[in-house]
Amino acid sequence: MNNGIFHIPRPVNEPVFNYAPGSPERAALKQEIERLRKDRMDIPLIIGGKEVRTEKTAPIRRPDAHNEVLGVYHIAGEEEARMAIKAALDAKAEWAALPWEERAAVFLRAAELISVKYRALMDAATMLCQSKTAHQAEIDAVCEVIDFLRFNPWYMEQIYNQQPDNAKGEWNRSAYRPLEGFVYAVTPFNFTSIAANLPTAPAMMGNVVVWKPASNAVYSNYMLMKLYMEAGLPPGVINFLPGSGGAISNVVLSSPDFAGFHFTGSTEVFRSLWKQISSNLEQYYVYPRIVGETGGKDFIFIDPSAELANTVTAVVRGAFEYQGQKCSAASRLYIPASRSKEFIDALVAEISAIPMGEITDFRNFVGAVIDEAAFNTICGYIERARTSGEAKVIAGGACDKSRGWFIEPTLILTENPRSESMVNEIFGPVLTAYVYDDHDMEAAYRLVDSTSPYGLTGAIMATDRQRINRALLALQNAAGNLYINDKPTGAVVGRQPFGGARASGTNDKAGSYLNLLRWVSAVAIKENFAPPSSWRYPFMLGDD
Ligand code: NAD
Repeated sequence: MNNGIFHIPRPVNEPVFNYAPGSPERAALKQEIERLRKDRMDIPLIIGGKEVRTEKTAPIRRPDAHNEVLGVYHIAGEEEARMAIKAALDAKAEWAALPWEERAAVFLRAAELISVKYRALMDAATMLCQSKTAHQAEIDAVCEVIDFLRFNPWYMEQIYNQQPDNAKGEWNRSAYRPLEGFVYAVTPFNFTSIAANLPTAPAMMGNVVVWKPASNAVYSNYMLMKLYMEAGLPPGVINFLPGSGGAISNVVLSSPDFAGFHFTGSTEVFRSLWKQISSNLEQYYVYPRIVGETGGKDFIFIDPSAELANTVTAVVRGAFEYQGQKCSAASRLYIPASRSKEFIDALVAEISAIPMGEITDFRNFVGAVIDEAAFNTICGYIERARTSGEAKVIAGGACDKSRGWFIEPTLILTENPRSESMVNEIFGPVLTAYVYDDHDMEAAYRLVDSTSPYGLTGAIMATDRQRINRALLALQNAAGNLYINDKPTGAVVGRQPFGGARASGTNDKAGSYLNLLRWVSAVAIKENFAPPSSWRYPFMLGDD
């Protein structure tokens, strides 16, 4: 039934529950956490809507209590990758032919399922498997997932509404076809919402998807897959394929039907997969669309006119929430020399007071880092800074892996503005500060702009309007998401479309129409209502 011009309900951002003591949502969440802890899950692959068990499994552990096993997941290999491609291509024609509003409805229903029926489940699964606090899980696995699922259909309608002009006697139409082939979505561990967005955004636009979740997030990501199915996603539209990225990618990227790559993760992995795609280029039916959001080395720049209290709050939240494991997390800090003592004293006092521990204890502000490899890398950075002779660890710095992968929120003060912890992405709770000479602001802006290869997020803390303006201009290419008097994390769908350029990605802005445009291939259709019946033009009718 399509005799109507349908409109997607105007989305509003999902309200964030606060989980304060005594609240009903807190009681429900605690109950769900305990239920999951008792219930060891056996997580299959899902190919063509069917559960597939390879019997090659890996355990799922809590990062903040690594002896606690939440279950196991089955590992896909090359054979399963081939099965997933086939299942996707088998589902393609019917899914692409489904009216767009019916496709949208699947995802709108999934959003509603999370908002009400599975809110506690999504929060609890993300807390346990990725070591997020209740608040960090809520803004990610519930609110941002829902926002992607409600805003993207709304953007889809706006894209489909874009139609060309017409001259007399003709009708021009633009149709937005899905890509010819399938899309490969590879997702990171750190945001359940990114794991939701990367496969669903192309699927919404009529594509079929092979989805490889991150090994450390299979648990929460599987919950997403199950609820898409409950919401009515037809078999094969999204195929869930946990396993080795290398093995799966070798099969997927050599398929002639590979048509798009939707990636979020580290710069290094993205570059290597882009190279692999380039070397296979002759094999593909189409030029694949490549969208990647990658690493960051995000800054907070404190202007001499900044206010103390809100700057300290922006630094603590921006650098240390979710243990600094956000691509947008502040990891380099610039403090003006004229006010360095008051900022450093206040920061050391606040950072030293941050409560850390298991996320099941709701008093904690930070949990553990994701796994042993991350723990070793991050602690290595702290240790090298400590012994470098050019830096001091002035808050935190302790690493303890006896029960979980715990690293204290750490502040390094360096004399070298290009020391490795000012340049490299560390992806942990480590912030490096440099005191700049505020007699020469232009030199300071140049330093911020040129220190790291990334360009993801940055914050300017200032009250002087002239200098805010000057900093915005000077740093316009240093970040894809710039903040004034706010932390550089926490972008909200529909309000701060997210993504960065330089080594941080293709800047296709997740959570906006710009991203969805990458998953369609427009076709222009011209119909002539009065076709000419002679091929001769009037100028040819005589020669005088
Ligand atoms: P990662 O690069 O280690 O892994 C990302 C995904 O790639 C995972 O699914 C992983 O299994 C897969 N993968 C790894 N090696 C592979 C290979 N050789 N072939 C195919 N797939 C492979 O990243 P991560 O640790 O999951 O996430 C952290 C990184 O993601 C950080 O660099 C962070 O900045 C970045 N990130 C960026 C954004 C953004 O929007 N810019 C958002 C979140 C995370």
